[in-house]
Amino acid sequence: MKRTLFTLTLSVLVASGVNAQNATQRSCGTKDAVNNLIQNNPQFAANRANIENFTNNWITEHANDKSAATITIPVVVHVLYNNNTENISDAQVQSQIAVLNKDYRRLNTDASNTPSAFQGVSADCGIEFCLATVDPSGNATNGITRTQTNNTSFSINTDNIKFTSQGGKDAWDRNKYLNLWVGDIGQGLLGYAIPPGGPASSDGVVIGYQYFGTIGTASAPFNKGRTATHEIGHWLNLEHIWGDDGSSCNGSDQVADTPNQADENYGCPSFPLTDGCSTTSPGVMFMNYMDYTDDGCMNMFTNGQKTRMLAALNGPRAAILSSTACGGSVNPPPTGDCDTLSNISGSDNLLIYGAVDNNQNPAGYISGTNTYNDNAKADKFTTTSGMKVTGGLFLFGRAYTTNNTRKVTAAVWDATGTAGAPGTELANKDILINSITEGSITAVTFTNTPTVPTAFYMGIRWTGLAATDSVALYTNTDGESTPNTAWERWSDNTWYAYDDADSWGLSVSHAIFPVLCPTVQSVEETQWEGVSVFPNPTDGNINVYLKLKSNDDVFIRVFNPVGQLITSQTSNNTTGGTYNFDLNGQAPGLYFVEVNAGNLTKTFKIVVAK
Ligand SMILES: [Zn+2]
Repeated sequence: MKRTLFTLTLSVLVASGVNAQNATQRSCGTKDAVNNLIQNNPQFAANRANIENFTNNWITEHANDKSAATITIPVVVHVLYNNNTENISDAQVQSQIAVLNKDYRRLNTDASNTPSAFQGVSADCGIEFCLATVDPSGNATNGITRTQTNNTSFSINTDNIKFTSQGGKDAWDRNKYLNLWVGDIGQGLLGYAIPPGGPASSDGVVIGYQYFGTIGTASAPFNKGRTATHEIGHWLNLEHIWGDDGSSCNGSDQVADTPNQADENYGCPSFPLTDGCSTTSPGVMFMNYMDYTDDGCMNMFTNGQKTRMLAALNGPRAAILSSTACGGSVNPPPTGDCDTLSNISGSDNLLIYGAVDNNQNPAGYISGTNTYNDNAKADKFTTTSGMKVTGGLFLFGRAYTTNNTRKVTAAVWDATGTAGAPGTELANKDILINSITEGSITAVTFTNTPTVPTAFYMGIRWTGLAATDSVALYTNTDGESTPNTAWERWSDNTWYAYDDADSWGLSVSHAIFPVLCPTVQSVEETQWEGVSVFPNPTDGNINVYLKLKSNDDVFIRVFNPVGQLITSQTSNNTTGGTYNFDLNGQAPGLYFVEVNAGNLTKTFKIVVAK
């Protein structure tokens, strides 16, 4: 006897040592979450009573229904993570959805483990789940949000995982999505759900990251995805199978075909298991998803539970049946009228001016590196307010280095310097000199896309180049730009306009083309609902997206830099669409896309960069 006792103690120690941070027994917080809501939200108790009345009536009226249609519930999974471990993979999320789609359709491979005495009441609930493909703004999504948080764990008492302002993530519209939050909710709790009748802001299911899905951080004995199966059962108005009545036999789960049960069961009991409420075989239904047994030992819902869930989906949860969050149409990828600015006109003559020193010796380039040690060149641009800079295009005529790491930096400045000179730097991106092709457009995309003032600068700056390194931008010819828009920064870090008497005395512009996009998508005041040309720059293919409020004829033409028609498309009596143009055969450079519909024509500049 002593030896047995010792072994038992040792095995418990070993087991708890291995799984020190994860629960070894199921613990569901739904009852606590419900009690919290009842205390804080008087309406919730009344809602619950009304829903219970509705449910009983619905079940009575639909007792003989042979429901055939499958219901699909769109799901969004909000991943909250304080460290990389908690940032569970897309595959782990998908593994959970796969479990739900088996368990709620009784396609689970362990369905055969249901004892024959209970096979007759076991149910294909006819409910399926899909990760949302459309987010609340109408944009495409994979149904997973990821939010890094400073919270090392979340509390069931404050429900803070559901609120962005508290380090969590706000719910998506519960009428369109089942919200699943996954994060660290402490050591003992596997999950909790809000049954029908609660407020929209906290509606959904919370699950600990160690108990979600079947791979990754999922931890035995709760690594078969049954915590979500159980909690979503609560969300669909199922109660714990023992009725949450302590160990008495008075409470009920409001379902007729589940045996009366005294209390929850843990671990993995052997069948049959009897207790004080079901004293003879087959005893209690410990393998029901709404008990507290381990994932590997639960395998069924009953017909009565199915009917109760269908009542919820035809009553308090009915709105989600018309959700189009899975497979519905999404917004087109581009946003509004991105366009390219230019201080150079199509007829300008591009060149590179050489610099000379006071003794009339060659001294590098006016629009690039030179022996005066200038360290930046920029152009001043004006735009409308509310535009963000997403990138820029630079036409270099010289780019030489013997070092693969030497670089210039594309930059955007506001115009808050002295006398309207470049001031604060707003965005930048390095360009390796060896990546530049002389005479071809170099395209830069900024990581941050700041909103620019109506006057701003874009240019290049550099530091640490060797005397043999040379870089220069094309400019137009003196006098072709009026006024002069080119500026430079001297070695003493003061900015001068090129036409300043102390500078070169030239009135020119650099071949620099900022790409700007509206920060807010404008709504056309005509019958045009939206228009966009993308990608820009392109390596050959462009798409013209046009949406009209009413049918009209659409006419799109593409011109080269000297105004020759390259290609066109016509579409009559249409509300628009996406029109593809193949410019792969065209030389790199600036092109114009003219879009005409109804009485409106808009022209977009597109850069083909190879
Ligand atoms: Zn529960």
